[in-house]
Amino acid sequence: MTRSEIGVGLIGTGFMGKCHALAWNAVATTFGEARRPRLVHLAEANGELAAAKAAEFGFAKATADWRALVADPEVDVVSIAAPNPFHAEMAIAALEAGKHVWCEKPMATRREDAAAMREAARRAGTVAALGYNYIQNPAIRQMEALIAEGTIGTVNHVRLEMDEDFMADAAAPFAFKNGAESGYGALDDFAVHPLSILWRLAGPVAAVMAEQAQPYARREGRAVETHEIAMALLRLESGASGLLVANRAAWGRKGRIAVQVFGSEGTLAYDQERMNEFQLFTRDGDERLQGFRTVLTAPVHAPYGRFVPAPGHGLGFNDLKVIEAHELLAAIDDRPARLVDFDTGFAIEDAVHAMARSHRDRAWIDLA
Ligand code: NAD
Repeated sequence: MTRSEIGVGLIGTGFMGKCHALAWNAVATTFGEARRPRLVHLAEANGELAAAKAAEFGFAKATADWRALVADPEVDVVSIAAPNPFHAEMAIAALEAGKHVWCEKPMATRREDAAAMREAARRAGTVAALGYNYIQNPAIRQMEALIAEGTIGTVNHVRLEMDEDFMADAAAPFAFKNGAESGYGALDDFAVHPLSILWRLAGPVAAVMAEQAQPYARREGRAVETHEIAMALLRLESGASGLLVANRAAWGRKGRIAVQVFGSEGTLAYDQERMNEFQLFTRDGDERLQGFRTVLTAPVHAPYGRFVPAPGHGLGFNDLKVIEAHELLAAIDDRPARLVDFDTGFAIEDAVHAMARSHRDRAWIDLA
C-alpha cells in the first residue's frame, strides 16, 4: 500500500499534549492507516520547553509562538492541548489558515467564543473535532449498539456522574482551575464528558435545572471563583429524564464517569474506573436467575481488536485518544467518522452554559 503523510502540529505538551503525541505516534501502527502522521511542529509556552518536548516527542520543529506553527505550510492538522482560555483564538486561527483542528474540550470558557469557533469551522470546511475521548471506548460503543437494537427497550431515564478528588484537599493552594478565567469549574471541566456520552446513548438535552456548590470557598486566603460540584436535572429531547452530578472534590474517586441508562426492558451501566467492562440487565428469561451480567470488552467490540487480540486484557485511557485520532483521519479522508464536531460540541457546551444560567436564576432553562 502506498502511504501518504499528514503533517501534525501540536500546541501544549502537558497531560493532554502528551496524550495527543502518543496517539499521533500510535495511530498508523494500530489501525494500518493509509496516512502516516508526520510530527512537524510543536509549540509550548517558552522556547526551552518547546525544544525539550519536540526532542522527547519526536517533532521536527519547536516554537514558543503557536502562530508560527499555525502558519507552517507543512502542518495539515493542529492538535490544541493548551489551557481552555486559549482554545478559541488558536482554533479559529488554525481553521482560517485552512488546517484541520483537533481541539481539547471544552471548546471555550465563554459561550460566545464557542459559537465563534463553530462558525469558523463551518466557514473553513476542514475537519474540526473535539477531544471527547470517552465516547471512543469500545464498551460505550457496544452500549450504544445495544440501545439502538432495542435490548433495553425505550430509554426513559439516564443517570450520569463524574467524580475525581484532585480538588478534595481543603488545604491545597489556589490553582489556575480555581480562578474564573478557567471557566465554571465542574460544569465545563467535567460535566461535558458524561454529556458527550449522553449525546451518543440517549440524544440531546432539551432543558436543564442546575445547582452548583463550592465545598471550599477560600484557598490561601483567596476567594475560590469556580464551583467544584455541579448538579443538574435534565429533560432530554426524547422525553426521557436525566440526572447529572459532577464533583472535582470527591475523596477517593479517581476517574469515575458512571453512566446508567434505564429502559423499559432493562438497564445498562458503566464506570470509567472499570473502563474495560459494562453491565447489562434484561428482564427476560427465568426470573429466578435474573441479575446484572458483566461483559468484558474483547475483539468482538470494535475497535478493541486493533489493540489486543485477546479478550479481557483491556485498553487504557491513552488508547481512547488513538481511536479518536483514527476517527479524525477518517473524517479528513471523507470516510464516516465517530467524532464530536464543533456543531455537536457547541450543543453539549450550550447545555453547560444553560446550567450555569439556571443556577444563577434558580430556574429551568430550555435549550433552543
Ligand atoms: P496541562 O497544564 O497539563 O498542559 C497545558 C500545556 O499547555 C502546558 O504544558 C502549558 O505550558 C502549555 N501552554 C500554555 N500556554 C501555552 C501557549 N500560549 N502556547 C503553547 N503552549 C501553551 O493541561 P492539560 O490537563 O493537558 O489540559 C489541556 C487541555 O486538555 C484543557 O483544555 C483540558 O480541559 C483538556 N483535557 C482533556 C482531557 C480529556 O480527557 N479529553 C483530560 C484532561 C485535560
